[in-house]
Amino acid sequence: MLQNVLLEREIYASEEHKMMQAMIQDFIKNEIIDHLDDWEKKGMVPRELWERAGALGLLCMDMPENYGGSGLDFSFNALFIEEMAKEGITGPGFSLHSDIVAPYLLKYGTEAQKQKYLPLMATGKFITSIGMTEPNCGSDLKAIKTTAVKKGDHYMVNGQKTFITNGFMCDMSIVAVKTNSGTEKEGVSLLIMESSYEGFEKGIPFKKIGMKAQDTCELFFDNVKVPKENLLGEEGLGFKIMMTELARERLTVALNAIGGAEGAIEKTIAYTSTRTAFKQPIAGFQNTQFKLAECTSQLQIHQTFLDRCTLLLAAHQLTSESASIAKYSATEMHGNVVDECLQLFGGYGYIWDYPIARMYADNRVARIYAGTNEIMKILIARGLFKELFQELKKAKKKPF
Ligand SMILES: Cc1cc2nc3c(=O)[nH]c(=O)nc-3n(C[C@H](O)[C@H](O)[C@H](O)COP(=O)(O)OP(=O)(O)OC[C@H]3O[C@@H](n4cnc5c(N)ncnc54)[C@H](O)[C@@H]3O)c2cc1C
Repeated sequence: MLQNVLLEREIYASEEHKMMQAMIQDFIKNEIIDHLDDWEKKGMVPRELWERAGALGLLCMDMPENYGGSGLDFSFNALFIEEMAKEGITGPGFSLHSDIVAPYLLKYGTEAQKQKYLPLMATGKFITSIGMTEPNCGSDLKAIKTTAVKKGDHYMVNGQKTFITNGFMCDMSIVAVKTNSGTEKEGVSLLIMESSYEGFEKGIPFKKIGMKAQDTCELFFDNVKVPKENLLGEEGLGFKIMMTELARERLTVALNAIGGAEGAIEKTIAYTSTRTAFKQPIAGFQNTQFKLAECTSQLQIHQTFLDRCTLLLAAHQLTSESASIAKYSATEMHGNVVDECLQLFGGYGYIWDYPIARMYADNRVARIYAGTNEIMKILIARGLFKELFQELKKAKKKPF
């Protein structure tokens, strides 16, 4: 049992956290686990699951109560992410909705925008997504081509987004667009776009190698009229806002990774304790023990660092570099752990009925989305060479 080895985590030690953990575990056991196969076949989860999560107060937990949230701190959101990941649940994009879209609105939205969307989001009756990536650019976000041209009281939006989590089910998306395209004042801006607007179309969910119950899809905009009050933050400052908020997104991916690694190790301890070979449990072989000891050590170290990051985020002090270290290192660790664990399941590890197989497939994307791990290393290195890069910038020379 992992609990015999891992340090107790202070951030989750309060009575409130323990009650929340028990409620989340019941929610997963009673309302999710038995339906996973069906949802994977359908390529998405039912809307009722979102509404149930909303009714239990599991969405937008750290939103203030006057906007429909629970007024808790971010550690409760973190707990929810980890508990879901421990069981390998990747269908519902709750975290993207609560931990990414909601904070954008809370921080940069006008009072009218917050009143209109946040309470609805907390109920789960209104599902949201975020549209940055386009077919021709993901890492290089400044190169987006979707345009928004101001025409009187609205923007006219044309373009396309791809790989959008919650894309098919979303009622609203925060979309990155180019405003004043082709002019000197060209910049990236963020628009709140409801999927009911004329000209807003959705593609069918992608057939992915993992996260099969997650409705990831393309979004198409053909002359979509977006009221100008739907501008989120200032015009032209969208890129800056995205770069600021990506730290939180990266931490959520890292939290998912440590939850996933913990779940994988637990399941492997259970399996290797009962499966026998050469007249003894697989767990009796020193190789099994060493592999699981290595995985547990890596998990413990990452948990400790991520607990610190979680506290820093709650105090609005998490830096881009720390978030990048967390995302890069935790997702690499998760990948290694799931691979080692699957190996210990032998042939059964390759069979979809075994959760370790799903965990193996689902986990791969974490090294790609929310900024690839190569981009994470660039961001960390920028911190290491900050002064040098500033000097080069002043001299109008490229750092590379
Ligand atoms: C399941 C899934 C869900 C997603 N959800 C969303 C979502 O909700 N919203 C959204 O906007 N996007 C989403 N994405 C998109 C995701 O964020 C992008 O796929 C990711 O940022 C990488 O962009 P790209 O696919 O265009 O790859 P590219 O940018 O084309 O990169 C290809 C390769 O080149 C490398 N590379 C690129 N630039 C550099 C460089 N400067 N130095 C070194 N190497 C480099 C990359 O690391 C990568 O290995 C999702 C993707 C997936 C698969």
